[in-house]
Amino acid sequence: MTALAEILIRRIREDGPMTVASYMAECLMHPEHGYYTTRPPFGAQGDFVTAPEISQMFGELIGLCLAQSWLDQGAPAPFTLAELGPGRGTLMADVLRATRGVPGFHAAMRLVLHEASPALRAVQAETLRAYQPHWIAEIDALPDQPLFLIANEFFDALPIHQYQRTHGQWRERLIGLQADHLAFGIAPDPTNGGPGPQFAAEPEGTVVETCPQARPCMATIQHRLHAHGGLALIVDYGGWRSKGDTLQALKSHAFTDPLAEPGRADLTAHVDFEALAEGWAPYRYTTQGAFLIALGIDARAARLAQGLTGAALENHHAAHHRLTNDAEMGSLFKVLALYGPSAPPPPGFV
Ligand code: SAH
Repeated sequence: MTALAEILIRRIREDGPMTVASYMAECLMHPEHGYYTTRPPFGAQGDFVTAPEISQMFGELIGLCLAQSWLDQGAPAPFTLAELGPGRGTLMADVLRATRGVPGFHAAMRLVLHEASPALRAVQAETLRAYQPHWIAEIDALPDQPLFLIANEFFDALPIHQYQRTHGQWRERLIGLQADHLAFGIAPDPTNGGPGPQFAAEPEGTVVETCPQARPCMATIQHRLHAHGGLALIVDYGGWRSKGDTLQALKSHAFTDPLAEPGRADLTAHVDFEALAEGWAPYRYTTQGAFLIALGIDARAARLAQGLTGAALENHHAAHHRLTNDAEMGSLFKVLALYGPSAPPPPGFV
C-alpha cells in the first residue's frame, strides 16, 4: 500500500468518505506524496507522453498560430505570452524557437508560466532560461495586458466531481472504505443543484463530471481577452459536454485502477469544452488533427523528413501520424480557441 493510501484511509475513517475531487487533488498535488510533486512524469521512462514530447512540430505550429493572431490583432506591445502547466518546458521552447523570426514578437512579450510542481518549475527554469520566465502562483495574477495563452493537457489534471442520477436525483460519487480498501460509493443524500440544467434530461444511472476549478481560471482568461484582446488555445482530450465516468489512471503507459496506487499513477479526466467556453464569444473548436493539418503540418513534416534517414525518419513519420490520425490523438484531442471580441479568428480552424 502506498504511503498516501494509508493517509487517505486514516482520514476517511475519521471524517467519512471523500469526494472524487479531493481524492484527485491529494493524489496529484499532495506536498510529500503527490504524483506531480514527487516526480517528472513525462517521456519514455515516465507514465505518459504528451504531444510536444512526441514531435517539435506541435509546438512550432502552436507558435505560428499565436504569432499570426498577434500580428492580426495589430502586434500589441507589451503582451503576455502564457502557458498553464508547462511540463518540461518543451512546448514553450518550440513556440519560442518557431517565433524567433516574427519581427517584434519576442521584444514585446513577457513570458508567464503557471506551474504547481516545484520539481517541474526547476526543469522549466533550465529549459527556458534564455527567455526569463516569470511564474505566477494563481491564474488571476496574469498581467493586465493582451494575453496569448496555451494550455496543453492542463485542464485534464484539474480535480473533478462526479454525480450519478439515482431515483431521479443527482447524488455525488464518493470514495470510502470497503474491507479496509478504498472503494467507490455514492452519497446517501441528493446534491443541491447537481451538475447543471443542461443535464436535466439525462436518464437514470448517468454519470456526469464537473470541474469547479476550471471556472475561475476561464473567468480570468476571458476578462483579459475582453479588456485587451489576445488568444487562448486550449488543447486536451475530451469533448463538447461531459459524458460518463472518464476518470482514468495511467502508470508506465498502461491504464490502471484509479484507486490502486494513490500518488503513483497519473489521474486525469476528459475535459468538458462546453464548460470552458461558457459565457464567451467568439470561439472556435475543432479536433487536434484538423487543427494541425490546417496549420500546415504535412508541409512541415515533409521539410523535416528531408534531413532524416533510417530509424529517425521512421520515428518522424510515426510522430506525424500519431499527432494527426483519427485512430491516435487526431480526433480524441480537441482544440478550443477563445479570442478577443474584435479580433479575426486565429488560423487553424476551417
Ligand atoms: N503541457 C505539458 C505538460 C502537461 S502535464 C505538455 O504538454 O507536455 C500537466 C501539467 O500541468 C504539469 O506541468 C503539471 O505539473 C501541471 N499542473 C497540474 N495541475 C496543476 C495545477 N492545479 N496548477 C498548476 N499546474 C498544474
